[in-house]
Parts: sequence; structure tokens; C-alpha cells
Amino acid sequence: MRVSMTPPHARAERRGVLQHAVDTAAVCTGLDPEVFFRADREAGADWRPRRDDALRVCAGCPARTACAELALRDGEGRADEDDMVRAGLTGPQLAAQRVLQADRLAVAVAADRDAEGARLDALTTQLLRTAVKNPDRSGGHRAGDRAQAAQNQLVRELGAQVRQIRAARRARGGWGAAA
Ligand code: SF4
Repeated sequence: MRVSMTPPHARAERRGVLQHAVDTAAVCTGLDPEVFFRADREAGADWRPRRDDALRVCAGCPARTACAELALRDGEGRADEDDMVRAGLTGPQLAAQRVLQADRLAVAVAADRDAEGARLDALTTQLLRTAVKNPDRSGGHRAGDRAQAAQNQLVRELGAQVRQIRAARRARGGWGAAA
């Protein structure tokens, strides 16, 4: 059955679609991320040929359009810093695109955050329910211990996801990692 989505729902789902496209098709998977970034105090003469190599990698990447959209939504690239490549664009080129597409991106970023907030709520609810649940001990001592261990593991995983989302939201709000 095809589920139709309202425009706000469609926008909220868009980030996941983009991320999936990058995760499944990026040609840079497995490459050292340093390939795409200028090192501290790296001379321009050293960085520029490396930057051109990175641009060539992106030029052949089938995920480039999705990668560019995510980079723009994430606010990557600065107008005054030639220090990175993403999606076949330098930092200043990404910054210029953000200015050109400012209105559209504001809507997209708001939708990203709404979707993230909904996910945070759902994960937090699942975490609380799982943490207070009594494991099934009807299968005996060992089975009960295994169920408890599985439940503990799930609580740890859910807790890690909740912390990760909260840290990202705090960082975007201008708070440090320890806030
Ligand atoms: S466009 Fe470039 S940075 Fe983006 S996924 Fe492809 S290779 Fe990686």
C-alpha cells in the first residue's frame, strides 16, 4: 500500500532519504576523511593539489546531489576558509550556495529538526519503558538472565542514541559538548 505524505511529513522524511543515499552510494566510503580536509597550518601550495584530488573523487560520486543537500543543511563550509571539500564543492562554494538557497534551506533545516525532535521523544519513551520492564523469567534461571542481559544492552544502546541526539542539538544551540 502506498502511504501518501503531506508536504510537512515529506520534508521531515527527506533527511533520512538523503542520508541513506549517501550511506549506500558514496565513493568516499573507506577513504581517510582527512582527504577532504586541509590540515592545521597546511600551506596553500600543499592543500590545493589535494583539494583538486578530492574534487575529482566527488565528481565521480553517484551520491553527490544528496551529499550536497546534506552539507548545505548542515551549514558546512565558510566563505573565508578554503579548508574542505564536500559534495564536489569547496568551503567557499558551499557557503555561496547557502546564501543563494537561504530561504529553501531554512525550511529544510526546520523540518530536519522537527523530525529529530520527534525521534528523540520516541527514543526517550522507548528507553524509559525498557528500563522499567521486568524481563521474562518464565523460561528458567538462565533464560531469565539472558533476557535481563539483552534488556540491559538495549537500554545502553537507546541511552547512547538519546545522548548523541541531545549532544548534537546542544552543539547546534551553541552549547559545548559538556553542557
Ligand atoms: S560527493 Fe564527495 S564527499 Fe560526498 S559522498 Fe560523494 S565522494 Fe563523499
